[in-house]
Amino acid sequence: MDFLRWTICRDGEGEPYPCTEPTDFLRCPFCGSRMIIHYFFVPEGDPFGHVDVQLKCPFCEYVATFGVSTYGSGERSALRNSRLHGRVLRYELERILSRDSEEYGMVEERLRRWGYW
Ligand SMILES: [Zn+2]
Repeated sequence: MDFLRWTICRDGEGEPYPCTEPTDFLRCPFCGSRMIIHYFFVPEGDPFGHVDVQLKCPFCEYVATFGVSTYGSGERSALRNSRLHGRVLRYELERILSRDSEEYGMVEERLRRWGYW
């Protein structure tokens, strides 16, 4: 078995964020919904060169954290310089998810109610 392939996707404005190939591969282990990027962080001066990536389930709110060690230094720099870096992604998700997708509808509803999802 090979490693899960982490790659870089770009939002509608070209900002990079971590994702897998295929992008809908990771599903929630509790309810089966597509896991959505929630937060990522590239530690500076980290000798192990990993990237923390949190994915969240829009249905049951399960959060999974990955410590991705397969990105090269160029990819880590691109992620660190992304405007999406180091912040909980909220309304930015409208540039990542298809607006008419079921997942976006769930996220948008939570953002409207609580300002968080
Ligand atoms: Zn779930």
